[in-house]
This record gives sequence, structure tokens and C-alpha cells, in this order.
Amino acid sequence: MSAVIMDGKLLSSKIREGVKARAAALKEKGIIPCLAVVLVGEDPASLSYVKSKEKALGEAGMESRDIRLPQTTTEEQLLSIIADLNNDDKVHGILVQSPVPKHINEEKITAAIIPQKDVDCFHPVSVGNMVLEKPGFLPCTPNGVLMLLREYNVPVNGRHVVIAGRSNIVGKPLANLLIRKEYNATVTLCHTGTKDLAYHTLQADILISAVGKQNLIKPDMVKEGAVVIDVGINRTADSSAAKGYRVCGDVDPVVKDKASFFTPVPGGVGPMTIAMLLQNVIEAGENCFKERN
Ligand code: NAD
Repeated sequence: MSAVIMDGKLLSSKIREGVKARAAALKEKGIIPCLAVVLVGEDPASLSYVKSKEKALGEAGMESRDIRLPQTTTEEQLLSIIADLNNDDKVHGILVQSPVPKHINEEKITAAIIPQKDVDCFHPVSVGNMVLEKPGFLPCTPNGVLMLLREYNVPVNGRHVVIAGRSNIVGKPLANLLIRKEYNATVTLCHTGTKDLAYHTLQADILISAVGKQNLIKPDMVKEGAVVIDVGINRTADSSAAKGYRVCGDVDPVVKDKASFFTPVPGGVGPMTIAMLLQNVIEAGENCFKERN
């Protein structure tokens, strides 16, 4: 069996076109949707993430307020910048690139962004709203996975989804969304305390890996015909690549031969995350217009 490749790049470009049209409509009403992108320090991976987000915002006709702060920025200074952004009517979303330097308490920073501008859906109130199915933004990577499942008409209702990884940004919210009645999946969430990962993954109709370990998921851990979604982003040294490394996922690429649907890395979930971020920013801008009128 050779799997249908779930093309996140293609789907994300369609979504981004839709966002661009919404941004143009909002501009005509006098609002330029704007995301403040805050980066503290000079971590190269973080810098490349924020640059790609800023580029995507520009391409969608939205503004990014790029705020680059030195590694020595204090928690107090960062909190004060966030307070200013919270009060700035021209800023609709605020993103602080993770990780922040160790001397800054990331939880405090997350909690300082008002939920109306929390387009990452990391604030405790945003997370609570998501779990309770109240209105609010949905977290970008989990929502990107759901969009891919929808686009490829993958049935989820009543199926067994096994997720590896219980982080606050991927595994935990994804499990929560998939148990909503609208998806109706039965979810198993695996993590470092799971005794026999393969025992669980072999039962998955839909297997999602969000761990961050190259080749964690091998063919003998996957049921024939399963849907396999790879959220992992791992850098592996490759002297033939321009940057000296290439990006791969958590799933051994040969799993594709056993799966019915398969997300590539790169080009699967990654581009969907950015598309969902743009969607949240435009929604924040539209919410701002509704509040004013
Ligand atoms: P994290 O590092 O916060 O958490 C990793 C999780 O994996 C933990 O919950 C841990 O319990 C679990 N884990 C570790 N070893 C395991 C094992 N052997 N079996 C089962 N579970 C195990 O992770 P994160 O921030 O959610 O990121 C996970 C991966 O997803 C990383 O590679 C990250 O780069 C990637 N990621 C990709 C996107 C995207 O847009 N594609 C977005 C976010 C994260």
C-alpha cells in the first residue's frame, strides 16, 4: 500500500489566500490586521521561526510589529512591553516566541497577554475556553492537524486516535479537541510514562506523533492502513544540505508504505501551523472591528 500524501503546503496556501482576501476586506473598513511578534535573544531556530511568520503575515497583506529584544531583557521589561501591546488598538494579536531566556518565567509572560490577543491560545483562559468549547482561538498546530484530516475526508468519528506527546502546545490540546462531539474520536495519549508505546500505536486508526525524536515511529509500530500524522520537527546533520542540516519528523519515512494517509516532513503539519496562526490573527482583527461597530 502506498499512502495518500497529505499536502500541508498546498492546503496552507489555499487557507492563506482566504486570509489574504479577508485582510483586504478588513483594510477597506479601516483596520490593518497586525500581529506583534516578540523575540527575546538570538536563538537561530527561534529567529528563523519568527522570520517565516513575519514573511507569511506580509504575504497575506497583514502587518507584523517586529520586536527584537536582547537576551539580557528582564522579565519586568518584557511584561511592560506586553502591557503596552495589550493596550495598543493597532495590535490585534501578540506572540512571544518560545523559549524565552531562562531568567524569564514563561508562564508569567503567557498569562500577561490578554486572551483577546492570544492568537497562540496559550493563556490559561484561552485553554479553558477551548476545553469547555467556549468561543475563542484554537491552538495553531492542533487546529492545523484537524484541518488536514478534514481536507482529506479522513473519518474520525468513532475511530481510535493515538497521540504520542503530551505537551501543552500539541498533544494535550489535540486530545481535547478530538474528543469533542464534532470529532467523536476515542483518544489515547502516550508520553514518557507510557510503558509500551508500540502496544498503543499498533491499535491506532489514526496515529499522531508529537515527540521530537527522529525515527521514533517504525513500521512495526503501525497498523496496516493507519492514518499517520507526523508533527515532529527534528534537525539532522546533512553536509549535502545548504544549511548543513535537514529537517525530518518523528516517523520513519518507510512507514508511508503501510499507511493509508501520511504527512511528509517538511511540508505536512508545519505549514498548517503558520496558516492557522494567520487565521487567528485575521479573526482577532475582525473581532476588533465587530467590537467597534
Ligand atoms: P515537548 O518537547 O514539549 O514534549 C514532547 C512530548 O513527548 C512530552 O510530552 C513527552 O512526554 C513525550 N515523549 C517523549 N519521549 C516519548 C516517548 N518515547 N514516547 C512517547 N512520548 C514521549 O514537545 P512539543 O513542543 O509538543 O514538540 C514535539 C515535536 O513537535 C518537536 O519535534 C517540535 O519541534 C514539533 N512541533 C512541530 C510543530 C509544527 O508546526 N509541525 C509545532 C510544534 C511542535
